[in-house]
Amino acid sequence: MLQVEQHGDVTRFEMTSVGSRVLGYSASAYSIGGVLVDCGFHWARRELGAILDRERPRGVLITHHHEDHAGNVERIAHRGIAIAASTETLARMRSPGPIRAYRRFTWGSAAPLCSPVTPFESDRLILIAAPGHCSDHHVVWDEADGTLFGGDLYLGVKVRIAHPGEDPRLLARTLREVAALGPTRLFDAHRGFVANPVPLLRAKADWTEETIALIERRIAAGAPDATIVRELFGGESLPGYLSGGDYSRTNFVRAVRRGMEA
Ligand SMILES: [Zn+2]
Repeated sequence: MLQVEQHGDVTRFEMTSVGSRVLGYSASAYSIGGVLVDCGFHWARRELGAILDRERPRGVLITHHHEDHAGNVERIAHRGIAIAASTETLARMRSPGPIRAYRRFTWGSAAPLCSPVTPFESDRLILIAAPGHCSDHHVVWDEADGTLFGGDLYLGVKVRIAHPGEDPRLLARTLREVAALGPTRLFDAHRGFVANPVPLLRAKADWTEETIALIERRIAAGAPDATIVRELFGGESLPGYLSGGDYSRTNFVRAVRRGMEA
């Protein structure tokens, strides 16, 4: 299913599947000045086809390899539309790793990228490395008017849930760097339009660092992960159980522990 919202010169294409609606998620691609940011997921491939027919984009920028952002990249390349993405993102899309059942249910598995890629360079939008959510995560930045397409950088201030590959310390540093750019508006891949994002990006960096410090104190005192999740977060979350621990509060604590051991 596709919902279209207009925010001045930016069009939001909010895509859902039966599975994502059951779990309460959507993922958005955005169009600005004849360019698309991200390309949705496998179960929304027909919606993406309709977006491409309507917008006829000159190029597509991809924020990161996750299947809800880059899930249709092979369709884009197959149509001969130019693509801007990091080397790591393209490499990961050429041989996507297996994803868990809940992600296949929600978004579907991305078709591997096998068509040749025409590189895209926008005269207006640039990809800026913004790691933490995952190692190849980028934001799309329009310096001319301070517009930020955040991919999965923001999502909300108090996000106490993580995938196995997340690095909360790095995320906090990235949030401060991106806030320092001074964006006037943010388009989040899941939250949609966010006005005046700088205080929110800083609040998320503050909360993340404070939470990391609380976890570190408990780890130093010898507390196991399950105790820390219970004491700090009130126990594991519903997505944590539904995903078999793949998208969970326990992963947040584990990531902090990994960072201490490194
Ligand atoms: Zn992601």
